[in-house]
Amino acid sequence: MTPIAALLAALSLLLIVVTFCYILLCWVRPFGACPHCHGTARTESRFTRRTRPCRHCDHTGLRLRAGRRAYNTLRRLLP
Ligand SMILES: [Zn+2]
Repeated sequence: MTPIAALLAALSLLLIVVTFCYILLCWVRPFGACPHCHGTARTESRFTRRTRPCRHCDHTGLRLRAGRRAYNTLRRLLP
């Protein structure tokens, strides 16, 4: 096995492990912190600096992960 082939095999294995871990994370914890309010459910207005409820997460501080959203969409589309 050449060094390049060994490197590609190692990178492929790493990619498979990272993908499997993300799938497991989406299965165990389908909701992550909202990227707009960082899980606090409150955002600061741009000019007045007053906090108000976050409209991106409907005031929960949680957002569905992209992987879980893709899984739900595929499950809805496929019979
Ligand atoms: Zn939010």
